Amino acid sequence: MARALLIVDVQNDFTEGGALGTEGGAQVAADVTAHARAHRDEYALVLASRDWHDADGDNGGHFAAEPDYVDTWPVHCVAGTDGADYHPGLDRALIDVEVFKGQGAPHYSAFQGRTESGQRLAEVLAERGIRELDVVGIATDHCVRASALDALEAGLDVRVLDGLTSAVGEESRAAALAEVRAAGGSVVDR
Ligand SMILES: [Zn+2]
Repeated sequence: MARALLIVDVQNDFTEGGALGTEGGAQVAADVTAHARAHRDEYALVLASRDWHDADGDNGGHFAAEPDYVDTWPVHCVAGTDGADYHPGLDRALIDVEVFKGQGAPHYSAFQGRTESGQRLAEVLAERGIRELDVVGIATDHCVRASALDALEAGLDVRVLDGLTSAVGEESRAAALAEVRAAGGSVVDR
């Protein structure tokens, strides 16, 4: 069976110093790079998603002046800005396919996004015969969670490599990983 690596939202705004920085985000960028290099021959495909919001408007209620950090957030990852760029610790040369999500909408899952040519992530994986997916990135409790659950929903064999993720909160992180396990996914360190 062919396996792919999905790197979720390893972007400046989700790492230390960014608009929604998670603790350990920069380390995740470096560790994902090391992992992808070391395991390159195990992955038929390396995909990376990015949150890619519109500069105008609230992106379907995703941005708020007084965010609750559950359903609403401060402005982050506006398309084309430095905050939306990959963290420099992530070696972008390792990425085969890029997925953009959140254009005018509150997307959390990479499966809601599209490639530059307009393909859905699920279509890309199906075309390449990918049945197994390793999910890493940021944040464990939001976009990694949503991407892993959508991958399971799509019938893929899913592992979250927990040691290669960083979270917004510890409690929500634990809850997200429990949800992934309950939905049939596995959680391993890396
Ligand atoms: Zn967002």
